[in-house]
Amino acid sequence: MTTHFHWHDHHFINRNPALDFANMVVWRGQAAEEDRGRSLENLKGWAAYAGLALPRADVDRCVKVREAIDGYFRIGAGWPDLVSLYAEALKADDDPFLTTILHAAMALAFSPERSRVRICGNCGWLFFDSTRNANKRWCTLTCSSRTKARRHYHAKKRVASG
Ligand SMILES: [Zn+2]
Repeated sequence: MTTHFHWHDHHFINRNPALDFANMVVWRGQAAEEDRGRSLENLKGWAAYAGLALPRADVDRCVKVREAIDGYFRIGAGWPDLVSLYAEALKADDDPFLTTILHAAMALAFSPERSRVRICGNCGWLFFDSTRNANKRWCTLTCSSRTKARRHYHAKKRVASG
């Protein structure tokens, strides 16, 4: 069985290949966690949509790179892994797809934008907070309104059962 995922603009909210690549996993760590990057078909579709070179046949390596990027920008873990993956990619010089993504990750890591990376309180995606107060909690309006609707629902339920 192949699961062919259809990519759309709203899967590329950051316009940054590193963060958008990490966001191939949605609802990370939650019961509904969905990994859309575990097949070569999905990875190729994503690359084509993002305007990048197509990935090579190594899905495991793509996942490894993705998880290193996610871990670093999500919780600040795994910097040495990320650096070695980047060094390996540069040395091998045979995988423009992963090299581009890793390059974007390194560029972001050394940029002031790094401090603007947040985790969405609803879907778990990584996003840039460009608000002046740096207090944005949801990646998109959709996630913001879904969270508020859910809170409203639970508040009503508590009133009803209390
Ligand atoms: Zn979200």
